[in-house]
Amino acid sequence: MNAHPQAPAWRATVLTLFPEMFPGPLAYSLAGRALEARVWMLETVDIRGFARDKHGSVDDSPFGGGPGMVMRPDVLAAAIDAVHPADETGARILFTPRGRRLDQRRVRELAATPRVTLICGRYEGVDERVIEARGLEEVSLGDFVLSGGEPAAMALIDACVRLLPGVVGEPAALEEESFERGLLENPQYTRPAVWEDRAVPEVLLSGHHGRIRAWRRAAAEQATRERRPGLWARYVKTRYDKNGKKVD
Ligand code: SAM
Repeated sequence: MNAHPQAPAWRATVLTLFPEMFPGPLAYSLAGRALEARVWMLETVDIRGFARDKHGSVDDSPFGGGPGMVMRPDVLAAAIDAVHPADETGARILFTPRGRRLDQRRVRELAATPRVTLICGRYEGVDERVIEARGLEEVSLGDFVLSGGEPAAMALIDACVRLLPGVVGEPAALEEESFERGLLENPQYTRPAVWEDRAVPEVLLSGHHGRIRAWRRAAAEQATRERRPGLWARYVKTRYDKNGKKVD
């Protein structure tokens, strides 16, 4: 990977109560090499640095009662305003299970957005008013509950960084991946050709590129149909005409 002498083209700022968690896994492999080569830049900001009292309080008990603590809007807003004020372009994302599920389409858009600020919740989450007042985009990683937004920030950054120009050696590999064509990826095989009495599909050994391409497409369609009915329905809409005939 070529080092970039000028400023990195993609910058992620993470607001967190645990800045020491970063870069964590992002220091390894593709993302780590790209970070070192200054293809992208990571900045972490400790939300506690914006606390208003000498105890460094960032949370308080929920109005109306109930378990746990809620992150204070004044502290969080001060942190957001300091690092990514509203008049600066870019995305300002708050991780929450209530958010819109992250998908490859949004990842592609975010990879093309030079400035991305990621806010990691903790405790029971954040005061609703800061989400409204700062117009934060609420993003979820999936229908499960993490103990903090940091793993979600790492996942989003990793997914974006591998789409930045020059990060993945063979850009064609990205086009074949799950979701890029609205399908899951076809199954993959490597050596040995027979393992524990299981042979790889014969067509993959044929050397016939047209047949291999057709087999992969059919296998990707089958996997999507069986595993992800929602994704399959969307794909069918774009690939089949109203008489059920394939468009390409
Ligand atoms: N009380 C919240 C709820 O039931 O929706 C869960 C809070 S969770 C323990 C603490 C923080 O982890 C959240 O504020 C959010 O930043 C992060 N988090 C948890 N699950 C997440 C998910 N599925 N996607 C994105 N962020 C998540």
